[in-house]
Amino acid sequence: MARTFERQVVELHIRVALLNRFTQLGRPQTVPVAAVASVRLGLGLGSCRAKFDLCNKDAKPSKMGLVISTNSAIDLACTLQSPGHAISDPTGQNAAYSQLYCRLSGTPLHLPQARHHMTDHTPTYSLHKGAVPLLISIPHLGTELPPDLADGMSDTAAIKQDTDWHLDRLYGFAADMGASVLQAKVSRYVIDLNRPPSGESLYPGQTTTGLCPTETFRGEPLYRQAQALSASQQADRLARYWQPYHDALCSELDRLKEQHGTVLLWDAHSIASVLPRLFDGELPNLNFGTADGRSCAPSIIETVVAEARASRFSYVVNGRFKGGYITRQYGVPANRVHAIQLEMGQDLYMLEEPPFNYLESKATSIKPLLRKMLMKALTSLTST
Ligand SMILES: [Zn+2]
Repeated sequence: MARTFERQVVELHIRVALLNRFTQLGRPQTVPVAAVASVRLGLGLGSCRAKFDLCNKDAKPSKMGLVISTNSAIDLACTLQSPGHAISDPTGQNAAYSQLYCRLSGTPLHLPQARHHMTDHTPTYSLHKGAVPLLISIPHLGTELPPDLADGMSDTAAIKQDTDWHLDRLYGFAADMGASVLQAKVSRYVIDLNRPPSGESLYPGQTTTGLCPTETFRGEPLYRQAQALSASQQADRLARYWQPYHDALCSELDRLKEQHGTVLLWDAHSIASVLPRLFDGELPNLNFGTADGRSCAPSIIETVVAEARASRFSYVVNGRFKGGYITRQYGVPANRVHAIQLEMGQDLYMLEEPPFNYLESKATSIKPLLRKMLMKALTSLTST
């Protein structure tokens, strides 16, 4: 029970922090779990009173979620600094705040220092084996941080803002289509599965993040202390996390090729629609990459693009994103593998700021197009 309560306290903190946009522009922060624990102890919030107050008393559903109007809940928010929002003057003698809005959206919490850590036995990817010649790879879906790394990472890193959020859900229809789906579990902050193992830049001369990044897309440090990654640390991450994903990808491509002769590899990505450090202005909705035409037969990409052209979404082919390592490495039409990378603006289906909610109302517009593009690509593949 005590453990459950503690978890609720922590979750409440994080939810409040997110709801009140506990972020300074471009510098997201959350309250570290350690800080939450000390506040809890300092205010004696482990008592029955607090537990009762927090969980039940004066807590009632509202349009916004759960409204809690107890002192305990307010005390609990003491470490939050969010002037101008529901919680204000957290250190004042006569704090005027009376309501704490706690959203119960059902969105998975992405807690700093995730409550469940990876171990050596945690699978680093999941693979669904399908029956049609289509493999969807989602290399940046992972949010897991191994504990030895997580301990030294910054609060900014803990938010994992650069994750390709919810693509498993957005492409949820693909398995029903008969596609194979490969999904990473490890965060790209540990190692980027869509970078060459050599660490060579995919876009020489342009700002980009590396194989084992030390900063976010926005240039914020991922580690508490600046540190250079040693060659052996990099080799360790390659062996533990990078290689298993690529081994699975290769063997699934081989299996499908054996069964069907030719395969389509669809590398699925999404990214914030505005990232001044990486590209100018707002990104087109759909960014197709075929390594400047080398990774896929023209007839296949053309049939995909024809669907995009007929939609209301903006698109570009081989623009800022031309396909990363996966597309370039495995997309070899002469080897009977055609690869397309689709980098989508995250504004198409989700909240682009914490807590990064999936927005069904938006997703329903783009999902039919995704499905149609994949169906058309499959048809075109079988006639090449
Ligand atoms: Zn990505």
